[in-house]
Formats: sequence, structure tokens, C-alpha cells
Amino acid sequence: MNEDKIPVGISSCLLGQEVRYNGGHKRSRVCLNSFARVFDYRAFCPEVAIGMGVPREAIRLVDAPDSPRVVGTKTPTLDVTDELYAYGLEVGRTSEDLSGYILMKNSPSCGLYSAKVYRGESPLPGKHAGMFVRGLRHTQPLLPMEEEGRLNDPVLRENFIAAVYAYHDWRTNFMVEPSPNALVAFHSKYKFLVMAHGQAPYKQLGRIVADAGASGFDERINAYIAALMETLKKPASRKGHVNTLFHILGYLRDTVAGDVREDIHRVIESYRLGFVNLSVPATMLHHYVKRFGSDYVNEQAYLNPYSEELGLRNTI
Ligand code: SF4
Repeated sequence: MNEDKIPVGISSCLLGQEVRYNGGHKRSRVCLNSFARVFDYRAFCPEVAIGMGVPREAIRLVDAPDSPRVVGTKTPTLDVTDELYAYGLEVGRTSEDLSGYILMKNSPSCGLYSAKVYRGESPLPGKHAGMFVRGLRHTQPLLPMEEEGRLNDPVLRENFIAAVYAYHDWRTNFMVEPSPNALVAFHSKYKFLVMAHGQAPYKQLGRIVADAGASGFDERINAYIAALMETLKKPASRKGHVNTLFHILGYLRDTVAGDVREDIHRVIESYRLGFVNLSVPATMLHHYVKRFGSDYVNEQAYLNPYSEELGLRNTI
């Protein structure tokens, strides 16, 4: 394991491994060129892992979308439902060090949102999770997951990476020595990131933390991380970012004034109107926060949510 990188699960075919039913792969540029700098990938091919071999008969989901079976496209008696689900449970149980998972779209095993369920020869309306993912989600309900295809969308990509970093921080820092004070400190650090996602989750998470010293601490931390990861599933809106940027500017009221303050104001407005990317006001603000901001503001994950070399805020 690479100690500096974040452990992230991935569908093996996305790394270029020739494990697809037809002996091919689905090498992903975004996963290999960009994210490989910061992720330590753990590759899993569920269909190979359950012994289907390469090449193999293609499989598909059939019958009820909520509880489908997974059968061969040519041999309906080839039913691998239980094996795929059990392998998802096993990967979830034995890979507790993962902080995220990238999945191959459309697959009856690995698809997260996009697998079709068939009745007879016709696909039913709607898109669904594959059978391996159903097992994995059962044992790792908090793990940030995304489909590789959706990572070509800059907003979804940025949001997924921020969620992976937040979950990694929780697992490898907070959970090492959980305490009421540590929960308060963790929440302080993520306050502005949560704020960008909306006032409702901001208040909800604040309420959970407000009683951090009360009884039932284990339940409280479970509720906190569940609410945080639920919040981070959806990207922050431009309006949410603008509100947060102005909120941070408010902390520089006494130290950054006059023309400089007006410039920052103007740049945030330019971002609001879509003339510049988020990196422009965020970098400008961060510069002044580093010089004049309090420890509280300087420690905000919002100003430094992931490795800068990913350049993700240049794209949203
Ligand atoms: S989508 Fe999943 S099961 Fe299919 S080849 Fe890729 S890793 Fe294997």
C-alpha cells in the first residue's frame, strides 16, 4: 500500500485489465491519468472473482427491479445472483480501509445507477444498481461511490473527490480516537463545506454536534457521519458556494478593507455570474485568509478540500 495515497476500490476493467466478458477492458483516462496521483487503487472484478472466467457468457439483471436475479443472456439457468451479492458483502467486510469506490457503468454487477433490468427480451424503464454493488452497499453504506462515466462531469467529479477526502479524514483521523471534543473539532473543520451544500444540512449537523457530550455518543457519531455523507452525495450549487465565499469574506471584515475587499467582492460576483471558475475566488480568499484569518477559518476543509494538484476547482 502507498501510505500517502487514499485507498479506493475500482472495477478492474477501468484500470485496463482485460476482464470483461469478451476479454476486453474499459481503461479510464480520468481514473488513470488524473486520480491515480492521489488514489491507491484496489481493483475488483466480481464476475471473475466468482469464477466465471474470461471470456464468459454475458449476464443481465432480470425480473423485479427491486430484487432482480442475474442470469446468462443465452442460458437463463445460469444464475449468479447469490454469488455476486455475497462477493459484494465480502468485499465490503474485508476492505474497511477503503475511502471510496469507482464503478463501471451499465454493468449488471458493477453498475451503480445505470444497470438495466430485463423482462423477457425488453429492458424495463429505469436504471438500477448491479448485484455486486447491492452487496457492497449493504456492508459499506457510507462509502462514497461513483460511476466512472459520471466522473466526466466536472461538478460530479469535484463533489465525489471532496466526499472521498472527507470520509478518509473521518476514518483515519477522527475514528482513531473518537471523543466529544474530537467531534466538535471535526465538525468545525467541515462547517463551511457543509454550508456550501445548504442551510438545512448545516443546521442538522450542528444540532447533532451540539449534544456531543451527552449520553449515546456512539449513536451520535453514527448519526453525524451518516448525515455528513448523505449531504456530500449531492454537489453544492453555485449559489451555495457564493454564500460560503461571502461568509468567509465576513471573517476578514476587520483586516481586509477598501479596494482589496471590493476586488474580492467583484471576483465572487464574477463567479456567481459564471464568468470565472470557483478556483478564482477560492484561491484569492485563501490567500488573504492565510495572512489575516483566524485559526478557525484557516482550518476549514472548504479552503483545502483535496489535493491542489487535481485542479478540480478550475473546472467548476
Ligand atoms: S464491470 Fe465489473 S464485473 Fe464487469 S468486467 Fe468490469 S470489473 Fe468485471
